[in-house]
Amino acid sequence: MAKEFWKCNVCGDVHFGKSGPEICPTCKNKDAYEGIDKETAKKKMGL
Ligand SMILES: [Zn+2]
Repeated sequence: MAKEFWKCNVCGDVHFGKSGPEICPTCKNKDAYEGIDKETAKKKMGL
């Protein structure tokens, strides 16, 4: 499986991996991550 970008719907934290974290390390919300495309991820991270 290819790695993808994931974004927390609550705090906007971006994660790169095979799946989104179950619990957001930043805001501690559960199942808050959704898959986003690479361009959106770059913008979110300010690249
Ligand atoms: Zn979060």
